[in-house]
Amino acid sequence: MSAQEHPLGISFEFFPPNTEAGRDKLMQTRDALATRGPRFFSVTYGAGGSTQHRTTDTVRMVRESGFTTAPHLSCIGSEKAALRDLLAQYREEGIDSLVALRGDLPSGMGGIGELRYANELVEFIREETGDHFNIAVAAYPETHPQAPNADRDVENFARKMKAGANLAITQYFFNADAYFRFVERARALGVEAPIVPGIMPITNYTKLARFSDACGAEIPRWIRKQLEAYGDDSESIAAFGEDVISRLSQRLLDGGAPGLHFYTLNQAEPSLRVVDNICG
Ligand code: FAD
Repeated sequence: MSAQEHPLGISFEFFPPNTEAGRDKLMQTRDALATRGPRFFSVTYGAGGSTQHRTTDTVRMVRESGFTTAPHLSCIGSEKAALRDLLAQYREEGIDSLVALRGDLPSGMGGIGELRYANELVEFIREETGDHFNIAVAAYPETHPQAPNADRDVENFARKMKAGANLAITQYFFNADAYFRFVERARALGVEAPIVPGIMPITNYTKLARFSDACGAEIPRWIRKQLEAYGDDSESIAAFGEDVISRLSQRLLDGGAPGLHFYTLNQAEPSLRVVDNICG
């Protein structure tokens, strides 16, 4: 694939599909998004390594596009030996980028494991593999839901950047000011690496509300109320969502955001429409 990198610096996230039909759809999505020249694709990971093989299989499939593909890797519930093996496997396969996370332990699943927080995972990856991997970590402009307060959370964020991360990708949000303020606070703590906003296209209110509750992203009242008014009218939701997310993305880029990372949910169209609106 010889598409040039998109001038705005965009990346696209996928989850590992669990059916043949899902795999076929993801290949089409990958090919459609590849035409916009992403910096990289990334593939999520189940906590505790529960769906590890699905991530590794999906990474292989997405890499066939010729674009850098970063597996997500979480440490909670995993032992160092298993993480070491996985890092060795990725190296052998020529993978050089990772998204390093603590993850969340599914209820009923065993112990926490040997590494408690993402900063410990980043340290571990650096100890084991030196500078081989480009490491991205997660950031929370609206504060991670388990953090005692915003100050502690940004300090914890700075700690994991200083452990050797090269890049941060944020949880999605709809309030640009939360992002700008978070970046300012991280810079004041000495974080110099790029902090790329995570962008969630709006396509389905019920799903969006469920995700947002789980991950602590706030849906502003004016967005919620408008989506509620549309009910089952998916065309109106898509048009409104495209407008809101395109304006948010433009505002972030105008304010200095170093790129955009799209949570695609394995769909091409909603992200493509936003990318095409913002570049002109
Ligand atoms: P951490 O950075 O470890 O932070 C977790 C909490 O602990 C925060 O409240 C923080 O303030 C606190 N903390 C951090 N370090 C310390 C410390 N040293 N001492 C005390 N407190 C500390 N989940 C998945 O399961 N799979 C995925 O593929 C996945 N991909 C994601 C990609 C992105 C870009 C984002 C934003 C999130 C993703 N998540 C994923 C969700 C993520 O796993 C959860 O949000 C999880 O709860 C926190 O992971 P973290 O790496 O941010 O944790």
